[in-house]
Amino acid sequence: MSWDESFQEFRDRVRDALNNQRLRTALDRATETIYAARKRALSRLPYYSYIEKRAREIKTWSIEHLPELIQSTKEAVEELGGVFYLAKDAKDLNEYVAKICEQHDAKLVVKSKSMTTEETFLNDALEQRGIEVVETDLGEFLIQLKKEAPSHIVVPAVHMPKEEIAELLSRLTGKSLPPDAEKLTRAVREILREKYIKAEVGITGANAISADFGTIFLVTNEGNGRFVSTAPPVHICVAGVEKLVPTVADGLTICQAVCPNATGQLLTSYISLITGPSRTADIELTTVVGVHGPRELYIVLLDNGRMKMAKDPDFKQALYCIKCGACINICPVYREVGGHIMGYRYVGEIGAVLTYFYHGLEKAATFAYTCTECGACNHVCPMGIDIVGMVEKLRERIVKAGMTPPPLRELPSNVEKYKNPFGEPPEKRTAWMTES
Ligand code: SF4
Repeated sequence: MSWDESFQEFRDRVRDALNNQRLRTALDRATETIYAARKRALSRLPYYSYIEKRAREIKTWSIEHLPELIQSTKEAVEELGGVFYLAKDAKDLNEYVAKICEQHDAKLVVKSKSMTTEETFLNDALEQRGIEVVETDLGEFLIQLKKEAPSHIVVPAVHMPKEEIAELLSRLTGKSLPPDAEKLTRAVREILREKYIKAEVGITGANAISADFGTIFLVTNEGNGRFVSTAPPVHICVAGVEKLVPTVADGLTICQAVCPNATGQLLTSYISLITGPSRTADIELTTVVGVHGPRELYIVLLDNGRMKMAKDPDFKQALYCIKCGACINICPVYREVGGHIMGYRYVGEIGAVLTYFYHGLEKAATFAYTCTECGACNHVCPMGIDIVGMVEKLRERIVKAGMTPPPLRELPSNVEKYKNPFGEPPEKRTAWMTES
């Protein structure tokens, strides 16, 4: 398909999304609720401005010192008996994780939410090798059932209204489930319980990893992250290199910045810190690894364009992103069309920049043009990222690559011919006015 055809197809999909009443209902319900909760939470956190400022300092410093942090993390993880691996790209990461699963003869893998594995299409890679993968975050579980990509980085099934979820889970369970959040949640809990115990491998993401002790920080509400990282005998943590911070105290600061912005909570129900595999020395002070938790811990970091981004003055600030989703919830375009239009694996305009580096310019080029440059995202971003400024830079690169969207190509000739960018004859300028 040519670029012009892809762009036309994208415009058709935008039109379909705008006409999708179910989608609009779900987006209205969710974005308004999260936005209001965030506002309430921030007003109740007296030291929030300190946390936000400190989080920015930590990320700015960390992105400047990535090679050093990678080396320290490797040493810390290995000293604790864990295994460290730096994957250069998505293929490398998927093959490495699949190899570990095969070495452990894994038939079933449970996962907690990880955007990095969405980025690499890890589930597909494991399933192609005959390994069953079960997402345990409720939203991820639902989109896995629907065979869809996440439409939000925090609330992946935000596009699904409860009526649709009830239909989906009723089909799965063979029971008639009502569109009631409480009852639907109970049904998923029942389905997932035994999976944690049966799984040979648990895969998690990380909200931060501290280089001092190789400590993994996991921010969750459901409690699934704890099950996934403790019940199976092998834990694999997958994260982008930008998640590294120098110290445990820095990791906690990042978690404190994430919570109110992501879900409107002062703190989430669970913040887990994992430093090395499970161990005991209760019998004659002899260390035994693998007690109630995993015997083996792997930390797999992903580059996939991040090190290049860290050196690019136009875009390196995108790596400060803590994936809170506040910019997405406030975006007026996202609220109308959702993340399947306004995204590839990462959504929103911060997602367009990340997509450019992780998946290439072509994947980002359509939705980079959905931004109206209203600046609402810049206003709410806790990391002070200039998202709109980066969108402008991204569009510059799209144009330089010869991928100007077809309607914009007419712009200079329209101005010359009609004295306006829209190609409308000047005599129609007052057509919108009603006659008095
Ligand atoms: S760009 Fe800012 S607001 Fe958007 S997800 Fe990242 S940290 Fe949050």
